[in-house]
Amino acid sequence: MSFYKTIRILDDRYLLDMVESTTTWEIEALVNQKKIDEKGFLKLLSPAGSRSLEKMAQKSRKESLNHFGKAILLYSPIYISNYCVNRCIYCNFNHENNIDRKILDKEEIRKEGEAVRETGVQHILILTGESRTHTPVSYIEDALDVLVPIFSSVVLEVYPLKEDEYRRLIKAGADGVTIYQETYDETVYDKVHLAGPKKDYAFRLDAPERSLKAGARTISLGVLLGLADWRLDLFKLGLHAKYLSDRYPDAEIGLSLPRIKKIGTSETARVDYQSVSDRDFVQMMCALRLFLPFCTINISTRESSDFREKLIPIGINKMSGGVSTEVGGYATNKNGCNQFEISDHSSVEDVMAMIEKAGYQPIMKDWMTL
Ligand code: SF4
Repeated sequence: MSFYKTIRILDDRYLLDMVESTTTWEIEALVNQKKIDEKGFLKLLSPAGSRSLEKMAQKSRKESLNHFGKAILLYSPIYISNYCVNRCIYCNFNHENNIDRKILDKEEIRKEGEAVRETGVQHILILTGESRTHTPVSYIEDALDVLVPIFSSVVLEVYPLKEDEYRRLIKAGADGVTIYQETYDETVYDKVHLAGPKKDYAFRLDAPERSLKAGARTISLGVLLGLADWRLDLFKLGLHAKYLSDRYPDAEIGLSLPRIKKIGTSETARVDYQSVSDRDFVQMMCALRLFLPFCTINISTRESSDFREKLIPIGINKMSGGVSTEVGGYATNKNGCNQFEISDHSSVEDVMAMIEKAGYQPIMKDWMTL
């Protein structure tokens, strides 16, 4: 059964009732357990979990040290095109937005890669909007041809592909795939994706499994916090990661928790989002670590430098640094048309210093594609 079929049978009302009825005593018992099952994970996301956050954070720190030690990997995203046919209400690259559209040619991609490589970063993500006309699979293949020789690991954060297309790009040197479902709430998903192929919830939801079937080494999943009920979204994100790890035990599974940021004009700015506090954020991070101690957790520059620093000892594995979300932004130093608002503008050097100050070790490479 695909993951799409698996989560369709869940009853949200039943899940929320279970969350509401969880007691602090149950949380304390869960924190002392060696293994947490799906039901325990849901309970850790409850208001009672929030009241026992200190204990959850201590266990999360312990589990993180046991599984990963004190190493934190740095990476940078490289945007190579912002052409997009979708109308996602939360994104500045929304097709309806009147922004400066750009696509990098091979030489510009090389310059962008070299500018990032000069910072010392060796793991990158390459990003495009969704436009099979402007950025077909052959274009992404060309980008890999340029970037794979420069970096230790190149991960794709592009539109969802068919299995044979993933296979083609993995053959061209892609190490893994990042694809966020944004929200697992199918009704909200339909409302926030106004038009374009991204409206196909099921095709996106099963993209991580297609990439793993095609041979991806890593897969990163995430939800855009603020679109829907965070407890339900987090629970389903955890189930998705568990579903994949049970079937693809050799894959490295990563989790991201980007909080939504308002940006841009037109559709993008008109939306009211649900608030997700720093305390909620820490609770979800701890719950994920206790349920899936072997999964990596990534914190992007959507979060402030101060907050990222505080999260390090709780269990961060990957952090971005010196980030530009502008197409060609590293080589040109321009920063006018970003996909979303960045909160932490620290350079790679500053992020490394922050990690060291927290008593951890910044690393630039934990894998090399041969
Ligand atoms: S989130 Fe992605 S698919 Fe949606 S508008 Fe932005 S770039 Fe396009």
